[in-house]
Amino acid sequence: MFNCDMCGKCCQNLRLSPLYAELDDGTGKCRYLEGNLCSIYETRPLLCRIDESYDAFFKGKMTKEEYYRLNYEACEKLKKL
Ligand code: SF4
Ligand code: SF4
Repeated sequence: MFNCDMCGKCCQNLRLSPLYAELDDGTGKCRYLEGNLCSIYETRPLLCRIDESYDAFFKGKMTKEEYYRLNYEACEKLKKL
């Protein structure tokens, strides 16, 4: 399972990916983010679900370990913003 520390940085910087444009409240932050937490966590979109997104979009293109590694790298970059 992906080890997310719930820093909220990905949900605060949606402008970095056009895939999340519909969730952007206009400032780059997700309209569903409350504090650092997702207010619709149980029903959040597929694109916000790391493991389910792997199965839907990346399985067969890379291993789960490589996918996690790329995601952890992105998290570290976001934490430095
Ligand atoms: S940036 Fe990474 S560690 Fe922080 S909330 Fe998003 S997925 Fe979790
Ligand atoms: S829906 Fe939830 S998990 Fe997805 S970007 Fe918004 S706050 Fe983050």
